[in-house]
Amino acid sequence: EQADTLLFMVDVRDGLTAADHEIVELLRRTQKPLFLVANKCDTAREHNEAYSFAAFSVGDVWPISALKGHGVGDLLDEVVATFPPSEAPLGEEEDAAPRIAIVGRQNVGKSTLVNTILGEKRMIAGPVPGTTRDSIDSRVIHDGRPYVIIDTAGLRRRGKIEPGVEKLTALRAGVSMERADVAVVLIDAAEGVTAQDAHIAGIAQEAGCAAILAVNKWDLVEKDNSTAGAWAKALRRDFKFLAYAPILFLSALTGQRVVRLFSLIDTVLAEYRREIPTAELNRWLERSLARRSPPSRRGQMLRIKYATQIGSRPPTFALFANAPEIVHFSYERYLVNQLRETFGFEGTPIKLRWRKKAEDRFKEEQ
Ligand code: GDP
Repeated sequence: EQADTLLFMVDVRDGLTAADHEIVELLRRTQKPLFLVANKCDTAREHNEAYSFAAFSVGDVWPISALKGHGVGDLLDEVVATFPPSEAPLGEEEDAAPRIAIVGRQNVGKSTLVNTILGEKRMIAGPVPGTTRDSIDSRVIHDGRPYVIIDTAGLRRRGKIEPGVEKLTALRAGVSMERADVAVVLIDAAEGVTAQDAHIAGIAQEAGCAAILAVNKWDLVEKDNSTAGAWAKALRRDFKFLAYAPILFLSALTGQRVVRLFSLIDTVLAEYRREIPTAELNRWLERSLARRSPPSRRGQMLRIKYATQIGSRPPTFALFANAPEIVHFSYERYLVNQLRETFGFEGTPIKLRWRKKAEDRFKEEQ
């Protein structure tokens, strides 16, 4: 029902069944572009046999081998040709809108936060246009800028907690964060940090998106001057791998600091997308190497010749060295810390990629 184009796949080795005919009838009634794909045509003989499926009179038969890839490219070209033209202006705007995933364990307040965001007076909210009907990602405009709040699979569907729900929550969080530019990792201030929180935060780090640690239900906490500081300290201890993520205390229920959350999202997004000019980066490299030279290993000296940024979202740097294989984790960590010290990169992970470059090539270029 949600599809623009239908591919009906049959097994070339099975021939036509009564059930196949019924399915074709159903598909034909939709009046959508329909492809009859005969799979498992691994050999020329099977490829020829596929044409017996013309009896379906669905139109052309497309013999393919999904296993070997035969015919798949041609089929894909034809399938794409049936797609309706996309609504360009909306699409462009949509691409530019950053995607925010709100994640955390069950009952931490994800749905409440999304509802507060969507209900916030300063936000203009609406469903994301032009996407499939099952998607209920929401689009909000805050201070004139669009954002997409990724739905963590049925966020707003409330239900009883059932066995296995923890695993499912983590899985869904992972799927959302793979699509996200920023993950807002919610922690329940009333309950404290649990193993499940650490698990989800770990997934945020692996997903490579920017991250914010948001302590929710702050309205329930009895506070004095040192409460926030003590929380921050504990979070830094428990989430060492997310040391780059800023911490925010908020209440999804009362709306306290929800607007501040958006300015923090803007901050980490800018860092996540940041690009450092090569000259500046190499001045940084020179200083960092001078401050602490790379250790030698197995009788070999590591020489790092130059650096260049090869990607953003998250910032990714290539380092050209004579012997990348001897780079030790601790030196890598030193370089990442130096990058942060010099450039900031608050809220975003940083990736380093090593490239081998032979010594003599260095000399030639000098
Ligand atoms: P989800 O499972 O993560 O989507 O969590 P919900 O949004 O369903 O929230 C679980 C419960 O916590 C609900 O009873 C909410 O009303 C409550 N809750 C959520 N956020 C807050 C908050 O900031 N303060 C307080 N006091 N309660 C909250």
